[in-house]
Amino acid sequence: MNDEEYMRMALDEAQKAGADGEVPIGAVVVYEPIDPGTRRPLAEPRVIARAGNRRERDRNPAGHAEFAAMSEAAHELDAWRLEYCTVYVTLEPCIMCAGLMHQARVRRCVYGAPDPKAGALGTLYQINADERLNHTFEVTPDVLRDECAELLREFFSARRKARKRASTTAQLEQERAETTTPPEAEDREAFMGSAASTSALPAEPSETS
Ligand SMILES: [Zn+2]
Repeated sequence: MNDEEYMRMALDEAQKAGADGEVPIGAVVVYEPIDPGTRRPLAEPRVIARAGNRRERDRNPAGHAEFAAMSEAAHELDAWRLEYCTVYVTLEPCIMCAGLMHQARVRRCVYGAPDPKAGALGTLYQINADERLNHTFEVTPDVLRDECAELLREFFSARRKARKRASTTAQLEQERAETTTPPEAEDREAFMGSAASTSALPAEPSETS
């Protein structure tokens, strides 16, 4: 199997996570032991772990897909070192996950979409190539980049729409309630309502309906 085929497996995990209401990010870990002397493969590569983002489900800030997949891989190998492993993940890893890759001594990371807000393997940081650290590793970016990014775009677009619907409903209820609310309280609620909507929905156009 090649990088794209493994990334498709990671995309499957991302889709499953999205269906569960998680941000759709998925990861798989492929294990391919090599002879340290000859550098020849000692066995066929095999997938030893796969995971989707599970932050909401576990209520855990460390519930990122690749973090969960690496933990599972270590369990599978019964070792903390993942030196013969490649981690495939649909979104560029954050500082925490790149840090775990460093700690686990992974051989390579392959990712799909870059993350302009948190990417630590090339975009904001180059954790994999920082010579001050005691382990560096190879990174292959942009594998099925568009598909990986599109999945995230669709998810956030759907979520914004759902929030907008919810806020419209809340607004209508508030308007109904306001007919019996004293003017002073009304002003305060209107102010808080507008502050909440600007912070929660920065990308949305103003309400038209
Ligand atoms: Zn992460």
